[in-house]
Amino acid sequence: MQFTTVTIRAKTVKPVEIIDITAEVAAALAASGLDSGQVTLLSRHTTAFININEKEERLIEDMETFLKRLVPKDGNYQHNLNPIDGRDNAHSHLLGIFMNSSETIPFAAGKMLLGEWQSIFLVELDGPRTERSVLMQIAGI
Ligand code: ZN
Repeated sequence: MQFTTVTIRAKTVKPVEIIDITAEVAAALAASGLDSGQVTLLSRHTTAFININEKEERLIEDMETFLKRLVPKDGNYQHNLNPIDGRDNAHSHLLGIFMNSSETIPFAAGKMLLGEWQSIFLVELDGPRTERSVLMQIAGI
């Protein structure tokens, strides 16, 4: 068993943004040269998360609209009174309650075993940010 750790970086340009990182993950997996095992992705943030879902342009727009409606930015939130992270982002943390910081994806013959309609998304909830990072650890043979 061998372990390889890679960091995937993304710039975000919208307050709520769904970014497809599938190609970057697949490229890092290919570069590892490993055949079979598991990829673990970890968003190292409290307002950006990992999600596996369908990549369809209008659906992504629907998802972004849904997230903004689900927890409005202008609520009366305690966290925004004196946030230690310096951002009025209680709504972003609250949305994060429903999300995953990490996902594990099996792979074989060097390819991730994602379903036909599955893509890997980084979900930005408090953008724009100059850099978000996703830790990727590949464990395999
Ligand atoms: Zn905060």
